[in-house]
Amino acid sequence: MLNVVLFGPPGAGKGTQAEFLVNSYQLIHLSTGDLLRSELASETELGLEAKTYMEKGELVPDAVVIGMIKNKIASISDAKGFVFDGFPRTAEQANALDTVLNENNIPISGMLSLEVEKQELVNRLLNRGKDSGRADDQDQSVIENRINVYNEKTAPLIEYYKKQDKHFGIDGMGSIEEIAERLKAVISSI
Ligand code: ADP
Repeated sequence: MLNVVLFGPPGAGKGTQAEFLVNSYQLIHLSTGDLLRSELASETELGLEAKTYMEKGELVPDAVVIGMIKNKIASISDAKGFVFDGFPRTAEQANALDTVLNENNIPISGMLSLEVEKQELVNRLLNRGKDSGRADDQDQSVIENRINVYNEKTAPLIEYYKKQDKHFGIDGMGSIEEIAERLKAVISSI
């Protein structure tokens, strides 16, 4: 099993590179952002609960996200591995993920952390907002809030994975292909 946490701030290119990892290594993509947006589109209770947080660029409560990802993992059999995208985002989520993966003897292989300058993040998100229609990508103050929340609550997870010798920093500036090559090089070293 190759289980990777694809990590980085909003706009770092996690979704784009997750697609590459899925195709290259036949992994299953688990994006909590995508899962939440799909719950929202179906107007489920979970989706409606998540909505107010997502609109403001705040984190959806841990219990909601952890429950959702556990259900998803349990529903999948015979996977070659997972790419976790946008999860974990808090220490509690990281602990919960380790617990469930260790119980199943499929621990995290590595955390691939995409490093991108702040101005580039904002530019990428505003650009994405033009095509995707995602409201949270069209409002500068929501974007700023997401980056602040990332710095405050999510970035500390780098230390969490460093302690397990599982952190790999990757330069996330450059073309999609260049970054994909860097990811590939790191994965072959794991
Ligand atoms: P981005 O990485 O560009 O912010 P995502 O699609 O990963 O976009 O997430 C969109 C929103 O969904 C986040 O701003 C947050 O409100 C919510 N969300 C996604 N993943 C999580 C998570 N693991 N924990 C809490 N909230 C989450």
